[in-house]
Amino acid sequence: MQKINIAIDGPSSSGKSTLARNLAQHIGYIHIDSGAMYRAVTFYALQNGILDEGALCDALPHINITFHSNPDTGLSDTFLNGIKVESEIRSMEVSEQVSRIAAISPVRRAMVARQQAIGRDKGVVMDGRDIGSVVFPDAELKVFVTAPLDIRAHRRYNELLAKGVNITYKEVLRNIRERDRLDTTRQDSPLTPLPDAYILHNEKLSPDSQLQALLKLYPFAEQI
Ligand code: C5P
Repeated sequence: MQKINIAIDGPSSSGKSTLARNLAQHIGYIHIDSGAMYRAVTFYALQNGILDEGALCDALPHINITFHSNPDTGLSDTFLNGIKVESEIRSMEVSEQVSRIAAISPVRRAMVARQQAIGRDKGVVMDGRDIGSVVFPDAELKVFVTAPLDIRAHRRYNELLAKGVNITYKEVLRNIRERDRLDTTRQDSPLTPLPDAYILHNEKLSPDSQLQALLKLYPFAEQI
């Protein structure tokens, strides 16, 4: 079968990365979590004390982000300049700053160019905020995954608790609400459901039913 690109967008903690990963595994495609790239840039800025936009833009050519699959977990880990940063980029410190960094146009242009290069030969499921609108506007299948804010905040809170992070539900809720605000109102590539996207409200759906819903659309998309 001819390969296609699949764009999965949605707000924070909507479960889009899990869905994208499950779908990619099922159909033998590459999964790219584009949010991890913006998180890695943010981690780089924090680590190097880069506070202003100009200095960050100058540093962009020195920020090399790669993904490598982890044989122990079967998942893909994010590497920054050759060093694994998978858990560091998920910290609250990074979550607090990432949406401001992701709103900077030169940062977006650099990440989008890398994402488009990955998708050039098709066979990619990529999740993020602007995948269907900017990265792969011609993606054969576009999905917008969403759930109410409190459900997403509870999911994230439980994930962080499971990782042993010391945080309150209120702090998580505030972070997700703020990221929603910044991601939907920024000038460059704001998050918005596209008219040609399949909208998946997943608050009542298990990961497997979400996968089944997309598998029903996928063969159809491949005929396009
Ligand atoms: O997907 P995740 O929540 O890990 O993404 C972290 C942040 O990266 C988002 O809140 C958003 O600001 C930014 N992002 C983006 N465009 C993407 C993916 C993520 O602006 N394609």
